[in-house]
Amino acid sequence: MKKITVAVDGPAGSGKSSVSRQVAAMLGITYIDSGAIYRAITWFFLEKYGDIDSETPFGNGIKGLDIRQEYYSDRTTKTFVNGLDVSQLIRSEEVVKSIQWVSSNKAVRDFVTTLLREWAGEKSIIMDGRDIGSVVFPNADLKIYLDASVETRAKRRYDEYVATGKNVDLKAIKKQIIQRDSQDTAREFGALKRCEDAVFVDTSDMTQDQVVNKLTELIENQDSV
Ligand code: C5P
Repeated sequence: MKKITVAVDGPAGSGKSSVSRQVAAMLGITYIDSGAIYRAITWFFLEKYGDIDSETPFGNGIKGLDIRQEYYSDRTTKTFVNGLDVSQLIRSEEVVKSIQWVSSNKAVRDFVTTLLREWAGEKSIIMDGRDIGSVVFPNADLKIYLDASVETRAKRRYDEYVATGKNVDLKAIKKQIIQRDSQDTAREFGALKRCEDAVFVDTSDMTQDQVVNKLTELIENQDSV
């Protein structure tokens, strides 16, 4: 297989991460979770300042920050900030609540974009996020845009939380998803959008395996494979 770059974008709960991990494992390529980087930077600034907002000096603070990510053969990823494994810490409610300040900051986005391009390097990768096809890899071999109805996405998140033993409210999750959608699509830099050259896949009525098969098929039918 020749080197291939696959960009998977879409809103929260569209299934990007689970599907991309599975596709990477099946094809023996690397999966990169760009959302985890924005989460890790948010965690770092929350640790540093306690609370953050649009006035937080992200541009200065981010210089020299050491962020790494490892993808393992069991499909899991680990994200490290200055050597510390923050993979679990970045999944907290506090991080989600404050992430908009970090992900809308131009200096942060430029830093992350450079990092993601470096990581991809010469390897074949599948990367998921919001601006992967539009900003990070506008020349990706394949761009996918995954979507699903708000109800489906909220139910998926709800089931994920319940599976990990968390007591959550479906209505509250749906509200949070709607809020994240509007933050992700409205920001000035790196907004979530469906690129014209992306293959649109509505996963509302598809199982995870069906989406994985669809993506694998699309990748295998690429000229560069
Ligand atoms: O994908 P995940 O839900 O972990 O992403 C968390 C947040 O990080 C998103 O809501 C979005 O605001 C931000 N993000 C981003 N650009 C990306 C990936 C994630 O702004 N490429």
